[in-house]
Amino acid sequence: TEKIEKALAEDRCFWSFEYFPPRTETGAINLFDRMERMYSLGPEFIDVTWGAGGSTSEATLQCVTTAQVAIGLETSMHLTCTNMPKSKIDDALKQCKEVGIMNILALRGDPAHGQATWTATEGGFANAIDLVKYIREQYGDYFCIGVAGYPEGHIENPNKEADFNHFIEKAKLADYCVTQLFYEPELYIKWVEKVRAAGCTIPILPGIMPIQAYAGFQRLIGREKTYVPPEVLAALEPIKDDDKAVKEYGVKLAIEMCNKLRAAGQKGFHFYTMNLEKSVRLIVEGLGFVAPLENVKPLPWNPSLSKKRK
Ligand code: FAD
Repeated sequence: TEKIEKALAEDRCFWSFEYFPPRTETGAINLFDRMERMYSLGPEFIDVTWGAGGSTSEATLQCVTTAQVAIGLETSMHLTCTNMPKSKIDDALKQCKEVGIMNILALRGDPAHGQATWTATEGGFANAIDLVKYIREQYGDYFCIGVAGYPEGHIENPNKEADFNHFIEKAKLADYCVTQLFYEPELYIKWVEKVRAAGCTIPILPGIMPIQAYAGFQRLIGREKTYVPPEVLAALEPIKDDDKAVKEYGVKLAIEMCNKLRAAGQKGFHFYTMNLEKSVRLIVEGLGFVAPLENVKPLPWNPSLSKKRK
């Protein structure tokens, strides 16, 4: 077990994977299987989301425990303030510490299901800054604390400058940052420059969400009001009913985006896996981070491995 901040600050390339907690037991078995297979892709760490409104707290805790203890992945747990009085936050942090998890992505959270606006829970926290401060107050520097960043601004705050300043205040208290998904690398590059100019030096990881399906992509960019370059929309239009072609384009686009970010000096990449393996595998192979599976020769003395790979 290790805090991830040290690794993230090293001057080398690395990547990390995000998962969400499954709803069913079968889903959990499938996910753990996938996490185990994706271990071979060498993620620096993995993280597991905290369901909207605290709806998955048990499942999230179970997932991070399995990832950290049974699979041996360096794990970070998302934790939000929605529907979470201090006592529940305390319980979650205590459980994390007990199983050796040392990394938390501290978030305010989205509004609870069925609510249009976010409201603080009685006895809870008003925003991510409050949560970060509380974790530090309770645990000193035991946890490596990450926060969320928004290259296009957080959609709720119409005052972009105030929103940016809140982010800087939050990020200066934290150890690393993962961003909201985006499809225009330039926006991310400019935003990171602005963050650095504001005196914030923590490692920042771009959140890369490979396009996996046309309808899901449309829903997502509609909800988050994400800017999508016209050439991306134009490339998708003729293939939108062909799921395989959309997935292939999603992989190609993610590789192109990561390469643009690399050319601008980016070293670390965070992939939203959507609990799926193939696209992310093809992307990290395409970026040359790992050897393509078909080129990896099974060890001759291990017949079970050679069977699995066929
Ligand atoms: P904050 O940084 O607290 O900001 C929230 C809003 O409050 C902003 O509009 C900001 O401008 C404003 N604000 C901040 N401080 C102040 C202040 N002092 N005074 C007035 N206004 C202020 N959601 C989940 O439910 N579960 C997850 O696991 C999850 N994982 C995520 C992972 C990443 C990488 C990202 C980018 C988002 C994730 N989200 C998750 C979504 C996130 O919870 C929402 O975007 C939420 O609306 C904002 O969370 P935050 O921590 O960025 O909030």
